[in-house]
Order: sequence, then C-alpha cells, then structure tokens
Amino acid sequence: MSINSTSSEKFNRLENVLIIGNGGRENSLAWAIQKNELVKKVFLSPGNAGSERINKCERVKIDLKNKNELVEKLDFLKIDLIVIGPEIPLANGLADFLRGKDFKVFGPGKDGAKLEYSKSWAKEFMKDANIPTANFWKVSTLEEAKKIIYLSSIPLVVKADGLASGKGVFIPDSKDECFRAAESIFNGKFGNSGDVVVLEEKIEGPEVSVFALCDGQRFMLLPTAQDHKRLNEKDKGPNTGGMGAYAPAPLLKEDHIETIVKEIITPTINELNKRNIDYRGVIYFGLMLTKSGPKVIEYNCRFGDPECQTIMPLMDKNFLFLLEKCSMGKLTGDEKLDTSDKVSGCVIATSKGYPHEYQTGFPIKIGNINSNNCQIFDSGTCFGKEGELLTDGGRVLSVVCQDKDFDSVFEKSYKNLKEIHFEGIFYRKDIGHQVRKNFSKEH
Ligand code: AMP
Repeated sequence: MSINSTSSEKFNRLENVLIIGNGGRENSLAWAIQKNELVKKVFLSPGNAGSERINKCERVKIDLKNKNELVEKLDFLKIDLIVIGPEIPLANGLADFLRGKDFKVFGPGKDGAKLEYSKSWAKEFMKDANIPTANFWKVSTLEEAKKIIYLSSIPLVVKADGLASGKGVFIPDSKDECFRAAESIFNGKFGNSGDVVVLEEKIEGPEVSVFALCDGQRFMLLPTAQDHKRLNEKDKGPNTGGMGAYAPAPLLKEDHIETIVKEIITPTINELNKRNIDYRGVIYFGLMLTKSGPKVIEYNCRFGDPECQTIMPLMDKNFLFLLEKCSMGKLTGDEKLDTSDKVSGCVIATSKGYPHEYQTGFPIKIGNINSNNCQIFDSGTCFGKEGELLTDGGRVLSVVCQDKDFDSVFEKSYKNLKEIHFEGIFYRKDIGHQVRKNFSKEH
C-alpha cells in the first residue's frame, strides 16, 4: 500500500523539519519523520540528550517567546515544516503565529487547542454536537460544587478545567473526598487552571486511544492504542502521564471503529467546522468503551505520550507526507497509510518517586541492547559535564519493541530493560498484560 500523489516534485520542499518539544513523543516523531528520504535534517527544539542519537537529528535552541528571533532562526534553518509536540505552545497560539508567517505547521491553532485546554468548553462542544460523553456540571464556586456533590445520586469525578500536566483529574471514593478534591482545585492547586471545576458522572469500561490526523476538513486514522496510566502493577496506584502502552488495541474491532467514526470523530470534525475552527493537527480521542457504547473521556490536541512512541515505529516513510498534507489542508481522503503488520509495545522507565517528588542527575548505563525492531526514545535525559547520560525527568526512557505478537514484543522490551541501569529505576512488569497470552502463565 502506498499513499497516492506523493511524487517528490510535489513535495520537494521537505528537507528541513522542525519539531518543538523535549520528550519521548518528540524523539519518536523525529525517528518516524527521518525515514523519508526527502528529509535532510530534523531539528528538535529543545529536544533532549537522546535526540541526536536519531539519524539526521540535531538540537537547536530557540526562544519561543522572542518572536523576531524565532522567525529569523526558522528562515536561517530553511524550515519547511514545523510539528508542534506539546499542548502548552499550542494553547498559547504558537501555530497561529507561525501560520501567520507562512510556515507550514502541523498542530492546531489556539481555538482548536481549546478541546484540550478547557475541559468545560470541550464538554459543551460535545453536548452541542451530540457526541457521547459522561454527563457533567460546570461550577465556578465551591458552594455550587458542594450542592451538586451532596445532592448527586451517582458517583462523580472531579476535574480542573484547564491544563494540569495530567494531574487535574480526581476519582474520589466518597462524597467527602469529592468535596475535598473540588476544594483543593478552587484553593489554587493548579493555579488559574482551577478557576472552573468540572464535575462528571463516573463511567466505567476499558479505555482506548484513537488518533485522527486532520487537515481542517478531512481526517485519517492512525493505529489505535491502549495505555497504562496507573503507577503500579494490576493498574493500581496514582495516575501518571503513562507507564506504558501497546498498539494497535485488539479490543477495538472493525465495527467498534465504524461506530466511533460515525458517532464521535465525524461529529467532532463537523462541529469544529461549524465553529469555523480550521483544525490542522492530530486529535487524540481518549475513549471509554461503556456498556452503552463508546464515550469520550477527553480530547487532546496533540499525540499522547507514550502512545506516540508506541505507534511511530509502525509508520512507513510516507507518514511525513500526511503531516504535510494536514498542515496544508490537503488530505484527499484517498490516502492509505502503510502501517506495519507488526504490533508494538512501550514500557516507560521512571525515576524513583515519580509521579510525586523525585531526584534527577543519576548516570544512565545502557548495556547490550537488542536493536532489531527495538528503540529507546529518551523521555527525560540530559548530558552531564563530561558528556555522560543522566536522568532528567520523572519519565526517563521509553523502551519500545515491535514483533508479530505482544508476547514477543514485551519479552524483547523487558530483556532490553534489564540492560538499562540508573539509581532508583522503576518500571511496571505487567505492561500489556491484557494482550500477553503468556502473561498469566508467567505470573
Ligand atoms: P483525563 O485526564 O480526563 O483523561 O482523565 C484521566 C483519567 O481519569 C482517565 O484516563 C480515566 O481513567 C479517568 N476518568 C476521567 N474521566 C472519567 C469519568 N467521567 N469516569 C471515570 N473515569 C474517568
């Protein structure tokens, strides 16, 4: 399978690509993008210590706040396409600014990013478009919240309205706990992100992630994924940014996907259009498969981390053309992505203490790694004074492998993890337990 109309004359200006961001997500995007032979350089700003281990990749320092310097630098580097990884620059309107300067940008403008940076706005958006999601109440004072919490006959989930680095959602076990969660948000736990609180009906079911690349009018689906948010094995413990993932999600059969397209994705694109939002980027649909059908838990305006590291190795070199077509509003609807027939899995190695307080700056030693269909994407690393690799974040390394089945994938991933050493290294041993046939035999 190949993507139509991808002659190099038509796409002859794709030599230099810039990726904004510094995590495992951005390194995996760079890894997939550099596969295309038209690409000469992939710049990452700021990237991390693992970025330059990737073929054709180079880190650049760019001050995103200094707009004149930014444009000068992009012109100097002859950047042909910009991919914005994280949600904060998108919410701050970086894509709008760069498009205004005639750059091709993959990433929504501030209006589209609102799907992620205001949960109450997203909930109202879904309500207007009749998109299945949990019932909700938007509240601006603790008094209002208190009334709803204590009168409610159903269990509720409490969410800060704005961006909170994945920490703004509480799943309380009692009404008092629910009230205390709302109180902590209104008391400024997340700054202005908690000026408004969303109380949501608690729903149940397995969670899946679906990614749609959008060009403003049309969309194209990428392989689906499932991630593990909880810190500890058996999916227990505090929520994290993500401890691992696998793709594609076997749970989602063809007919599920058809329902999701019909009831969720198409109405989302139509509603964006109705509101004159020209969304050029990826929409991440965090879904729960409830007994009454799939429901949206959240929208993200960017690739998920670690789902991105998990699905990028499944992309062929034409992935780059899709990003460019989205940036130009030129998906034809006929594209076929040549994804691998393999499956992929990712295990995250974290610092001791994550997602709470943790220390950084520990040397990382990587031994004899199997690199056949295996990648290590640095998530939080830096170089020490002598150029040695050090830990520099809560999530440190993303260890990813592909193979014919999930048992082989995770066997390789965990073998590679045994070769990685840093003080306090922590990772879950049961990532993908739902899809590993041999898992119950081994545990
Ligand atoms: P979010 O940041 O909105 O994706 O929420 C983080 C996690 O909280 C989700 O992945 C779910 O596991 C859980 N969650 C969020 N909203 C609900 C809900 N309405 N009912 C049950 N669980 C939820």
